[in-house]
Amino acid sequence: MATEATGNQQLLKVINRMALVRLLCAQPGLSRADLATAAGLTKSTVSGLTRELIAEGWLEEREVVATGDLGRRPTPLFVDRSRLLLLGAEVGIGSLRVVATTLTGEVVARVGTGFDLQRGAPACIAGLTTAMLKVRRQLAAGQQVIGIGVGLPGGVDESSGTLTFAPNLGWRDVAIGGLLRARLQGSALAEVPLFVQNEADVAALGELEFQPAPAPDPLLYVSINQGVGAGVVVGDRLLTGRHGFAGEVGHMVLQVNGPRCSCGRRGCAEALIGTRALVPESSPDDATGSTTLAEVQRRLQAQDPATLRSVRWAGTYLGVLLQNLASAYDPGCIVLGGAVVELGEPFLQPALDTLNDYAAAANLAPPVVQTARFGADAVAVGAAALARYKLTRPLIPTTSSGKALAEGDGALP
Ligand SMILES: [Zn+2]
Repeated sequence: MATEATGNQQLLKVINRMALVRLLCAQPGLSRADLATAAGLTKSTVSGLTRELIAEGWLEEREVVATGDLGRRPTPLFVDRSRLLLLGAEVGIGSLRVVATTLTGEVVARVGTGFDLQRGAPACIAGLTTAMLKVRRQLAAGQQVIGIGVGLPGGVDESSGTLTFAPNLGWRDVAIGGLLRARLQGSALAEVPLFVQNEADVAALGELEFQPAPAPDPLLYVSINQGVGAGVVVGDRLLTGRHGFAGEVGHMVLQVNGPRCSCGRRGCAEALIGTRALVPESSPDDATGSTTLAEVQRRLQAQDPATLRSVRWAGTYLGVLLQNLASAYDPGCIVLGGAVVELGEPFLQPALDTLNDYAAAANLAPPVVQTARFGADAVAVGAAALARYKLTRPLIPTTSSGKALAEGDGALP
């Protein structure tokens, strides 16, 4: 019983510590007294916890700006942006991107590279490890990485760290989390808690975590690349579903007997909106889709009629998909990200027109639609946000490595 009581007290302390960090993420500059009121804790508890958090690098005090008022003004507290850092990685279709960010999402180091798809997951893990350690070496002395997130292009079982199905990579049941952890053994990142999740899910968390104002709720992030997916955040929680497939909206069927999709079905959103839908004669075997998209841009600039038509149709189907998502979730905001969004107006305007037409037909206001805050870094920065999301919400039970909760419980590793 004594052990259980001690355990509960430790958990309570972790919860309280991270509640203070989250409050200061959302409202920078609160004083200790403000924090006590907001968190419902005593001033002495807040004083003790903030002393620890400042010593460890989570928080910092800043000088009070003299206003000429009489009396001592309370010292404002902020999340420290210099000492503790997060790593975020994006695994694309043959591409890798790793960033280091501050606890509030500013990118301080970045490495982009590729891997040979033909050599499969081992090449990906090797490249990812090298890129992560390269980013780690770019950090200043005294800076410490406290969490690593990885965004993957497919369904993810985050409790086991497994990429369950990634049709565009052609992979099933790859234990990315475990393989990566094994590869990092003996390195400077060996003991850092590691989390894996779907790419659109992490990008949604980037929008949730790294903005000071309260995030729209529900928040939907729709990622449009060769694959199409969505991350859904409802009430401050990422919706992952029973098998980790929640938000796999690229495989919602929009057209009976439509074009063949990477998953084997016909008429999925991905087959109508993703990269392969944009060049009618493109081969379904095109491994990366990146050359395809550059070619689409070139043809759009040349006003090629067939390309203009196919991009407009893809945009129209995006509008259909967004209408269906708006009906399902009544979102506070839909964020659009991914390489195809870079096509801009020729792709996005038909989508917005379609969405607005559906809203007008029902005499309703259309949902708010924005583009991704972090642009091409959305998934990598989002993966860093996944690490902060997990580390600062100790009651969310899922762990990718089986050890992450114990190691990353808000104390320093
Ligand atoms: Zn499909």
